[in-house]
Amino acid sequence: MSSYDTFDGRFGALVIGSATIEQLWSGGRWTEGPVYVPAAKTVVWSDIPEDRIMRYDETSGTVSVFEHPCGYHNGHTLDAFGRIVACEHGGRRISRLGFDGRWETVVDRFEGKRLNSPNDVVVKSDGSIWFSDPSYGIDTDYEGHAAKSEIGRCNVYRHDPRTGETAAVVTGLDRPNGLAFSSDERILYVSDTSLSDTPAIHAFTVAKDGRTVGEDRVFAVSDAGFFDGFRLDRAGNLWTSSGDGVRVYAVDGTLLGRINIPETVSNLCFGGPKRNRLYITATSSLYAVYVYATSADRPLPSP
Ligand code: MG
Repeated sequence: MSSYDTFDGRFGALVIGSATIEQLWSGGRWTEGPVYVPAAKTVVWSDIPEDRIMRYDETSGTVSVFEHPCGYHNGHTLDAFGRIVACEHGGRRISRLGFDGRWETVVDRFEGKRLNSPNDVVVKSDGSIWFSDPSYGIDTDYEGHAAKSEIGRCNVYRHDPRTGETAAVVTGLDRPNGLAFSSDERILYVSDTSLSDTPAIHAFTVAKDGRTVGEDRVFAVSDAGFFDGFRLDRAGNLWTSSGDGVRVYAVDGTLLGRINIPETVSNLCFGGPKRNRLYITATSSLYAVYVYATSADRPLPSP
């Protein structure tokens, strides 16, 4: 089986046909939540059932445990200062790794009730933290601690660290999961991993105030498993996990192609000094492949 399947000619400009898909590490139980930390030349990701955070050192090629136990981390991202922002199933909170090396709570409640189990997170350019809160970390003890939902449903929230306000911005999806903004932040993409609804990525129009969303349209539908986590490249193409590998969709929703991965992909991120290396978490492993595309991640502000 070829590593790449092309469905649209535009795919050829995004992937390197001769680039090998490398398995950098294996031995996890369910890997998720990769984030590239430029200042550390490191990829950090979760192994949720093992309650540990792993790290891949890009310089030496070594993998080690970053933290264990960690509170059943899932998704990670960076804030504008390069700090890791994390989703914790166990702690049922969004946390942040401070400059002193300690995890601090960013938000753990909505309207006085405990969050379910934050799954994926993104930081907007205004500093607000948007995250999904499905129930996977409280449904069973496997990926967290079994408990009843206090909120009673699964939303996407916007938390403003400056005011402390938390608002539910997406309330109509059954199991909101991965999320990302378009580079102009006019669209918020959210995947829904509901068992009862068609697995899809929704595209929400971000309101002019930048704090709420309006119209919801289905951006892509999966005919092979779930879309979980995803990222966008500089041109606005969406690179997403799916049941049959990494799928790449154009801005208009056209499926351009697929990178075939031997395990079920959960999430991915761009990394490397040029942000042209795709790191992929898939079931028990971390994979990497160089691509022509580069990350849409905005540059960090200068001090
Ligand atoms: Mg997820």
